[in-house]
Amino acid sequence: MSETKILLSEKEMPTSWYNVMADMPNLPKPPLHPATKQPVGPQDLGAIFPMELIKQEVSTDRWIEIPEEVQEIYKLWRPSPLYRAYRLEKALDTPAKIYYKYEGVSPAGSHKPNTAIPQAYYNKQAGIKRLATETGAGQWGSALSIACKFFDMECVVYMVKVSYHQKPYRRIFMQTYGASVIPSPSNLTECGRKMLADNPESLGSLGMAISEAVEDAAGRDDTNYSLGSVLNHVMIHQSVIGLEAKAQLAKADDYPDVVIGCCGGGSNFAGIAFPFVHDKLTKGAKVRAIASEPAACPTLTKGKFTYDYGDTAGIVPILNMYTLGHDFMPPGIHAGGLRYHGDSPLVSRLYHDGIIEAEARAQRPCFEAAVMFAQNEGILPAPESSHAIRLAVDEALKCKEAGEAKTILFCLSGNGYLDLPSYDAYIGGKLEDYEYPESLIEESLKKLPVTE
Ligand SMILES: *Cc1c(COP(=O)(O)O)cnc(C)c1O
Repeated sequence: MSETKILLSEKEMPTSWYNVMADMPNLPKPPLHPATKQPVGPQDLGAIFPMELIKQEVSTDRWIEIPEEVQEIYKLWRPSPLYRAYRLEKALDTPAKIYYKYEGVSPAGSHKPNTAIPQAYYNKQAGIKRLATETGAGQWGSALSIACKFFDMECVVYMVKVSYHQKPYRRIFMQTYGASVIPSPSNLTECGRKMLADNPESLGSLGMAISEAVEDAAGRDDTNYSLGSVLNHVMIHQSVIGLEAKAQLAKADDYPDVVIGCCGGGSNFAGIAFPFVHDKLTKGAKVRAIASEPAACPTLTKGKFTYDYGDTAGIVPILNMYTLGHDFMPPGIHAGGLRYHGDSPLVSRLYHDGIIEAEARAQRPCFEAAVMFAQNEGILPAPESSHAIRLAVDEALKCKEAGEAKTILFCLSGNGYLDLPSYDAYIGGKLEDYEYPESLIEESLKKLPVTE
């Protein structure tokens, strides 16, 4: 084993996913139907999801077997490497040990295929021929395009219009894997036509694109909907990250004091952190898990723990989560994957119960940390991942001050090779830090669905 890079063999890869719902002292309240405000049943969800995923959504089994076909595809890039960031540690002059789990080695360049592959698999098993989804910056659409191609299914991606025009590389990426990419809002759906009638110049938003994709899927028997984050089954699939990391650290005879992930909908954070939260909840491990979110979209640290819609039009189930309000339009930060008004109900509940922590950082200090990371470790991080790096660096600097040799583990959720314009903005001094949009959030929180 090399000193800096700790690999597992194929034989050591996990064969089951971990489900934190088995160990949580309190579960989130159930999702509600957007029209009736009553708990949604499997038959409601069955219009857009296959039964196996609905079962996972409500399962409290601790371990869920990874289908063999999924394991085989995972092997294209898994186990992903765990690195010890010796050069970064030296540059920071810290006694802390910093490890990072690198998910950018996947074909899409992020952790998202960890769930795209099983989602396509279960839909294929259920006889579905076509998946509809939304994408913001394009990372989720890229992952699902690849997954659909592997299982010989069609893929339709509603892409937020501003990104469609500003990020042609992601669009080309998806089209190369055979997906149809539609700028959203579009005139192909009823809710899209309504949004265009309200504002013909609309640049779109993730919430709007979700509404369009769900409408598409609900209206066709051969089509289901697929979501890249937030839902419980996504958190389950992403547990491969933390399970592998734990086994890799054990090989290095180490265990983290602090585990960090950037947090948009919560899936890569859950992925790296929940297997350690398991140790905390069942074995009293002292590990801290910290979600790192943007100061411009501070869902956990400034949002409200309640029920809210997952989309703008209010057609998807109402979720029990931290939210900034479903029509809150986050400022145009470069970490596009972190611009979501809500958060995973599982991450939200654990945060509400004080089992995990959260911190928010502005984008400029995050890019500064990302560039320092790139210059020392060689990998150019995704803008989203820069939020995890910033927090890891801050923890390492605290260790320096206190003279403590803590072990820090973070998830490097993706690479930034298709996000170079963001680095161009940083290098050119054009990257702004937005004020915390307090009044906008206050306004938006006034429009929560009434659920009692
Ligand atoms: C989508 C994405 C995120 C944010 O999503 P989570 O569900 O919070 O993990 C973070 N990093 C990268 C690289 C992404 O593509």
